[in-house]
Amino acid sequence: MPELPEVETTLRGIAPHLRQQTIEQVIVRDTRLRWPIDPAWVESLRGQKVLGATRRGKYLIVELTRGALIMHLGMSGNLRWVPLATPAQKHDHVDFIFTNQRLLRFTDPRRFGAILYTEVAALLHPLLADLGPEPLSANFTGEYLWQRARGRNQAVKNFIMDGKIVVGVGNIYASEALFLAGIRPSKRANKVSAAHYLQLAAVIKTVLANAIEAGGTTLRDFVGGDGKPGYFKQQLHVYGREGEPCLRCATIIKAQRLGQRSSFYCPHCQR
Ligand SMILES: [Zn+2]
Repeated sequence: MPELPEVETTLRGIAPHLRQQTIEQVIVRDTRLRWPIDPAWVESLRGQKVLGATRRGKYLIVELTRGALIMHLGMSGNLRWVPLATPAQKHDHVDFIFTNQRLLRFTDPRRFGAILYTEVAALLHPLLADLGPEPLSANFTGEYLWQRARGRNQAVKNFIMDGKIVVGVGNIYASEALFLAGIRPSKRANKVSAAHYLQLAAVIKTVLANAIEAGGTTLRDFVGGDGKPGYFKQQLHVYGREGEPCLRCATIIKAQRLGQRSSFYCPHCQR
């Protein structure tokens, strides 16, 4: 599943060629994404110019002269530049063709992705309005996490995966960050100390920044390349390593279901 670093890598791949380009045509081959694509707004995109592209959480925002596109890659989506004459394959659901004859193609086998259009400011859209801070921003701190955890009885892993608390901390990154901070994933959020939250915020930033950097190294071949997200190139300490020895202390890594997600931890290193 594309996580925040892959979405950031996608943004960096598409943004430089989008700016100031004018949409000539939008071809929708399948409207049945997570939310149906409405042909009425598709037609209204013609002739609009792209002012810029940004990211909020795992949403890509393409600012247009009138409104904005909000896109999500869902479970299996990707968005990439392809040569204009490239024949569409089965899962190539949407093409954006620009007047400079470049083609931006949205592909999504499982169709959990989304393309929405809003005429008001994208950040006010209901999907984006209530999102927590960006993990790599200055307002995401250990102090902030500790404050938000007051009175919260849920597992700390579910707490940091809640997009209203902080965006873009997916299952893999949550597991890895909790290992690096020495916190058991099932620990109640309100029982984690302020000092531990300081460490946790710091390692979340490091883990995500490293993954973005790893994604960045594949940026050139992200378009039609091996398609492997950056986290596969990183060493994982606990994620997916149930039954294997901890890389730090050799204790056997355990797995546990939390909020319907697999969680991995070292019983010795994480308390
Ligand atoms: Zn260990």
